[in-house]
Amino acid sequence: MTDSRIPADLPDHIQHYIDGAFVDSVDGDTFDVLDPVTNENYTTASAGKKADIDLAVASAKRAFDEGPWPKMLPRERSRVLHRIADIVESRDHRLAELESYDSGLPITQALGQARRAAENFRFFADLIVAQADDTFKVPGRQINYVNRKPIGVAGLITPWNTPFMLESWKLGPALATGNTVVLKPAEFTPLSASLWAGIFEEAGLPKGVFNLVNGLGEDAGDALVKHPDVPLISFTGESSTGQLIFANAAPYLKGLSMELGGKSPAVVFADADLDAAVNATIFGVFSLNGERCTAGSRILVEQSIYDEFVEKYAAQAKRVKVGLPNDPATEVGALVHPEHYEKVMSYVEIGKTEGRLVAGGGRPEGFETGNYVSPTVFADVYPDARIFQVEIFGPVVAITPFTNDAEALALANNTKYGLAAYIWTNDLKRAHNFAGDLEAGMVWLNSNNVRDLRTPFGGVKASGLGHEGGYRSIDFYTDQQAVHINL
Ligand code: NAD
Repeated sequence: MTDSRIPADLPDHIQHYIDGAFVDSVDGDTFDVLDPVTNENYTTASAGKKADIDLAVASAKRAFDEGPWPKMLPRERSRVLHRIADIVESRDHRLAELESYDSGLPITQALGQARRAAENFRFFADLIVAQADDTFKVPGRQINYVNRKPIGVAGLITPWNTPFMLESWKLGPALATGNTVVLKPAEFTPLSASLWAGIFEEAGLPKGVFNLVNGLGEDAGDALVKHPDVPLISFTGESSTGQLIFANAAPYLKGLSMELGGKSPAVVFADADLDAAVNATIFGVFSLNGERCTAGSRILVEQSIYDEFVEKYAAQAKRVKVGLPNDPATEVGALVHPEHYEKVMSYVEIGKTEGRLVAGGGRPEGFETGNYVSPTVFADVYPDARIFQVEIFGPVVAITPFTNDAEALALANNTKYGLAAYIWTNDLKRAHNFAGDLEAGMVWLNSNNVRDLRTPFGGVKASGLGHEGGYRSIDFYTDQQAVHINL
């Protein structure tokens, strides 16, 4: 392994950021942070506990109660958010380099995620000044209008896949609406989150508005969820963690936004543009190392084109370039952490008993260390198979045949999840009707993951509760007080 892979100026320790200062944990505890290519510790991060969360929440509460942030005009907050977007944009290569090193994501894809983080801030900066609230008049009798108010301290809990971008998707609207925040990033990937503090200081965000506590979910995350002065929790992560957070937040009746797991189907009908469908479904499950919540990890293919599809798909999966995360040619890098690698590999082994292995199936040749998994394809997978039902969250896909629309729909809806779905057909009427019948929060017709940020983002069933995106995010992070006047 050459040193050129290692970014310059890596921190030898990552701290919390509370009340405008970088600090260690009250008890001095730390945890190790691994390089996913070697699985060696490259730095440590402060391991936050309840005492650290208490300090961060107190800082955020003070900044909320004393202002000026919640009371500033939307236009003034918008200017700060635009400056944040400018700074993120100007550091996109550095951000991508650090994110790719910490998470194992391919560098070109990490760069796209860094730019998307800037775009998230810019989007909410624009949206908040365009915000209009309802006013209703009963002529000569009443006026009713809405006061929209920031809620207080928002607790933001994020996962390790595309960490910086997903943090921006919560930070942008939470700050735009005038809340103050405590961010608890994922413990596998704390590196990029530590950059927010400097970016926010430079952009002029007032002290105490942004606070960051690193640490394990069961310590720092749990304390944030149970803190009585945190009325809102926005969580992205596994469905089982979401269930636990629901239960823990229940005694406090907190506002909850839950973006959870998925096992999304891609349905390919015989009349589809086959090459476009193959290309898109390859990207849909192997980009971001397969560590993508909206991954199309179950491909359902109409029987009459099934053999041709499987053959083309397997051939293309074998051409996906596995490589070092920092190599611009790499399409699949190293999975984030050895624990996650073990989980994904266990499903690769299970898959060998549940389907027909047509590509991959283990560690790629030439990668003796690190969390590398070959792009793996199983065909002929039955709907009760574990690899059909469980979110593997790695470069592993199950292909299943169907004979008619009704069977395709039943298969597509046959998991506990309902995050995304993809449909490939040239029959316009079928496409729209099928989309409407799918149990999925988001559907892509003959397309892949590109979306307007004004649209709702979120899942149904075990994939989440509540939708963010556009004005839905503004609604989540604000109280809407109705004021009524009799004339
Ligand atoms: P995870 O649930 O293990 O962890 C997510 C975050 O929750 C981490 O910061 C973790 O420390 C924290 N956490 C864990 N236990 C907690 C507890 N008891 N109380 C409070 N916080 C706790 O998820 P992960 O493995 O980091 O991420 C992968 C999952 O995220 C996948 O299921 C993926 O589908 C999902 N995801 C969903 C979306 C979406 O928008 N729907 C986007 C990205 C990822």
